[in-house]
Amino acid sequence: MTNLFSELGLPKAVVDAVTDLGYITPTPVQQQAIPALLSGRDVLAAAQTGTGKTAAFALPVISKMLAAPKARAAKKVRALVLAPTRELAAQIDENIRAYCAQTELNTVLIFGGVNIRPQTEALLKGCDFLIATPGRLLDHAGQLNVDLSEVEFLILDEADRMLDMGFIHDVTRILDKIPSRRNLGMLSATISREVMDISWVYQRDPEEITVRADEQNKPDILQYAVTVEQTDKVAAMARIIRQEKLERVMVFCNTKGMVERLTKYLEMEGLDAACIHGDIPQKKREQVM
Ligand code: AMP
Repeated sequence: MTNLFSELGLPKAVVDAVTDLGYITPTPVQQQAIPALLSGRDVLAAAQTGTGKTAAFALPVISKMLAAPKARAAKKVRALVLAPTRELAAQIDENIRAYCAQTELNTVLIFGGVNIRPQTEALLKGCDFLIATPGRLLDHAGQLNVDLSEVEFLILDEADRMLDMGFIHDVTRILDKIPSRRNLGMLSATISREVMDISWVYQRDPEEITVRADEQNKPDILQYAVTVEQTDKVAAMARIIRQEKLERVMVFCNTKGMVERLTKYLEMEGLDAACIHGDIPQKKREQVM
């Protein structure tokens, strides 16, 4: 085990990029997954969001692509990352672009619920990394906008969630389109039965990695509960924000209606509030985020 990125066998352009981002030591999942993926092994990692899992798979894939440069070809993809939701896909894309900052590698991001045309144009040019949600990727594959036959690296991120969301057939259809892949990495918060099934069928002798949520990995969060009457809940929230002089607050509610009501109330109280939920258009949600 090393506590330096420079000792993991990554090229300078990659080490410099993460150093510029302020990363000092590799996280446990990175320490284990990076050497395994670099050596050509498949990986099955139990790791949650926040453990540094994006860099754990992206950095070795970038390194392997740099070691075997290949000109971009129309519709072709070198590394495919599947993610369950557009928010996660967008976050992965942003991270990978930062990790590729000192290279010529490019990324294309595709997900459903938005105009397909700009995505089609990007896919036709070919790309090094394609980050996609499964349904929209199959739409593009069906329209022959993308050719997955030469994908070398494939990552299933948040695999358990993706399979829970009913994407199992989409995922296996995509996997079946990719005969040439060299590395299959699967990252999952939990190794569910469905995740094991996919691993058994599609992975070759995977390196299994488990990142325990031990004290070291636990975020430093103080939790407490306040008991109030239903009718006083919203006012109590505003009072706490003011009294504690909280500047950046994230609030989760159990209904869309409550989300709307709380946001309006906080605005009336003179606080700068914005909300997102499933009925708000994607564009607006992104602006808020
Ligand atoms: P992820 O689990 O990939 O969603 O990453 C969680 C956050 O940790 C992201 O904001 C990353 O930029 C950050 N991160 C990833 N690896 C490291 C590292 N080795 N040191 C510091 N921050 C990191």
